[in-house]
Amino acid sequence: MGIVSGCQYGCCTAEVAALPDGGWKNTDKGWVIDDRRAEHLRREWAATSARIDRMQADYPKCKGCGQSALALDAAGLCSKVTESHRTYRARLGLSPVPAGRGGRR
Ligand SMILES: [Zn+2]
Ligand SMILES: [Zn+2]
Repeated sequence: MGIVSGCQYGCCTAEVAALPDGGWKNTDKGWVIDDRRAEHLRREWAATSARIDRMQADYPKCKGCGQSALALDAAGLCSKVTESHRTYRARLGLSPVPAGRGGRR
């Protein structure tokens, strides 16, 4: 490490990192961020979205469309009922439409 930096992303000097309210100032135009903190906010946001991406990567992926879904059905598919999803389910001998999605009778 060696380098003394003011923040965990290494973009702020100790002085900038110590700004009150993280560099936010309440002005007559509302809250504004100190210019020297703009890069920090960008990095903070990048880190947050990377974390969200990682979380979503943990979700199982639909075998039909590859989309992450909270839950997959018996065929390993998401809850979509497009042609390709129906075909996939039918090939596995399952109902083309997941249970509870039947709707019209
Ligand atoms: Zn920073
Ligand atoms: Zn799908």
